Amino acid sequence: MHWRLHLFLLWVGVCDGLSSPASTSTTASGKSLLRMNSASRHTLYDLPVSNNGARCRLILYKKGITTSEVDIVSPAELGGLKSEEYQQVNPQGKMPALVIHNNGVDPSSSFGIAESDTISRYLMSTYATTGPSFQPDLARSNLMARFHDIYLTTIQGCLYKPTPPFGVYQTRQDALLEFQSQLQVLEDLVVDDGQYLCGSDISYADAAIFPTLVFAAFMMPKFDGAAEGFQTTLPPKLNQYLEHVRTYDSAFGKVYNEIMDVLEGSWEQERKRWDGIWLAGQRDTDPDTIFDKIVAKEISAGIVRETDDILAFTDINPAAPAHILVIPKNRNGLSRLQKATPEHVEILGKLMVVAGEIARDESLGFGPDGARIVVNDGPAAGQEVPHLHIHVIGGRAMAWPPG
Ligand code: 5GP
Repeated sequence: MHWRLHLFLLWVGVCDGLSSPASTSTTASGKSLLRMNSASRHTLYDLPVSNNGARCRLILYKKGITTSEVDIVSPAELGGLKSEEYQQVNPQGKMPALVIHNNGVDPSSSFGIAESDTISRYLMSTYATTGPSFQPDLARSNLMARFHDIYLTTIQGCLYKPTPPFGVYQTRQDALLEFQSQLQVLEDLVVDDGQYLCGSDISYADAAIFPTLVFAAFMMPKFDGAAEGFQTTLPPKLNQYLEHVRTYDSAFGKVYNEIMDVLEGSWEQERKRWDGIWLAGQRDTDPDTIFDKIVAKEISAGIVRETDDILAFTDINPAAPAHILVIPKNRNGLSRLQKATPEHVEILGKLMVVAGEIARDESLGFGPDGARIVVNDGPAAGQEVPHLHIHVIGGRAMAWPPG
């Protein structure tokens, strides 16, 4: 059978309630697939720093399931996340993935399941009577895990990824503030009594949320002052919970150490990951300009448009009957257009839209025949104020080339 067809059947099996095991297949090169690693019953492909995989590891550790039952190996063993072999296990090419060997029906069978939630639920059900149950049917726990997976996991990249977007958020500031408010949603769901999130017994929410708290507690302080109102610490109950379980519960302590070793070691010290990240290692340290005073309304200007992040006002020394400057309120490193990075895509787009709106506003003196819309970048172009601004100039005919 061609391996792609085999893979399809294999996934149909997985989607069909894990009920129809597929047999082992080979690649064009004749390499055995899916069963490459297995002296153990099952194989979890994961890495210590993987936040998603950590919930599966926590369940394994807490239940005392040993590596002879479920071995934990790096996806590199199958050639990495993008390899043909790995993508037979998880066609999304992501961690974690669990290969279930010898499904008990057909000794040669094996198939892969992916997504940390699916794997965790498989582990909770297969090993229901081994160690704590993790209360897979507890509504509060499931709600917390679901909120976490939909609203936090999707944007947490704002804490460590080099560039936006972060989920649906185009700016790091917006994503950071949303991350914080979603933490607060979880905080409000934490049960007051008991050492775990939903009380005195461990639940699935603990497995799902704890690794993210480890990430967040380490990374949030790096964004101190990044956005107005952004707090650098976890909300108090979540913070207390993190400190308590990592100290007094050895399974949590183990996952904590696995994640932190990589974050502090290869991410921070070796690769200096945050040095290049905007609002962590990279900040706008240039002095304020006269435009900051106009934004703060400390000096007056003829303001013609104002939004949350943009101000447009008449130029004090107009070059034509109509001359408006359009600026980002927060310079955010844009002292000139040459400083633009992917962090600025959102604000640059908004500035252009406002410039276009102004250019067609006849009440400001612009005519139907158009306007000159320019950015002077640097001294050779005559830029005087080091805070990005778009000139919208009109009300008369313009010559080209400009002087
Ligand atoms: P640049 O030469 O940097 O491209 O443009 C700076 C523009 O800012 C100039 O056209 C200048 O007239 C204008 N400008 C400088 N200071 C002020 C001010 O205090 N108020 C206003 N409304 N415009 C200013």
